[in-house]
Amino acid sequence: MVSGKKILVTGGSRGIGRATVLALAKAGADVAFTYHSNTAAAEAVCQEAEEASARVLALQAEAEQFEKTKETVEHVRQMLGGLDGVVLNAGITRDRPLVMMPEESWDEVMTTNLKGTFNYARAAIYDMVRQRSGRIVCVSSVSGLVGVPGQTNYAATKAGQIGFVKSLSKEVAAYGVTVNAVAPGFIETDIWESIPESKREGIMNSIPQKRLGKAEEVAAAIRFLLSEEAAYITGSVLVIDGGLSS
Ligand code: NAP
Repeated sequence: MVSGKKILVTGGSRGIGRATVLALAKAGADVAFTYHSNTAAAEAVCQEAEEASARVLALQAEAEQFEKTKETVEHVRQMLGGLDGVVLNAGITRDRPLVMMPEESWDEVMTTNLKGTFNYARAAIYDMVRQRSGRIVCVSSVSGLVGVPGQTNYAATKAGQIGFVKSLSKEVAAYGVTVNAVAPGFIETDIWESIPESKREGIMNSIPQKRLGKAEEVAAAIRFLLSEEAAYITGSVLVIDGGLSS
């Protein structure tokens, strides 16, 4: 059950974040989400939630700047009247084999994915510890578990998120706060569209279920980890990949 819970989702305008916002709103949670620049997509999410008789709040906010994330978390706490959970979902790829990877592609991915994880978790954790309850769910990737060629930068951030989750979960377990990760495989979102056509067939063949995952399938797992029923699960990584990494 997440009904009545107050949840912030980063990167909620598209893909997995969008599906998560809608799944939570439809289950009766009060949801705020951030986005980077795609205002039209963010408005479409609000509209779709409204049609399902739910209200969600969209905020343009970068994941990279710590001061800005502190302001965003505080703003969301005030608007929703509290904060029970944060989904650390905002993430980007800048794929290239390492021999050709520009330094900026490394830095950009580190800053958005890993620093963004620190920023939002750091901004939210103190009050969760103080209120003796809270949920943090980090959207990592199988890339961080088994590696994917062309993704040294991205895989490093996704493996980093798993270490982050495992450490933080131990720091706050005694205070009623759980910290978990989901590790999706290849999911049908705009990130998949960014993978060159020539590589897609090979990837599809490597997935035992022979299909991409749906954003809604990842959202359902995130919703569960945010729920009361998941109270005894912490420091775990839930893999959602059609058998890819098993
Ligand atoms: P997506 O469709 O590209 O959507 C990315 C979302 O993050 C958008 O809402 C985007 O906002 C937002 N965003 C991007 N950069 C941001 C920034 N700097 N600050 C704030 N928000 C930002 O991505 P996705 O495929 O759903 O992926 C979501 C998460 O799942 C990522 O962490 C990704 O690593 C992980 N994941 C994805 C897959 C997959 O196959 N798709 C697999 C494993 C893990 P705008 O709309 O404004 O650009």
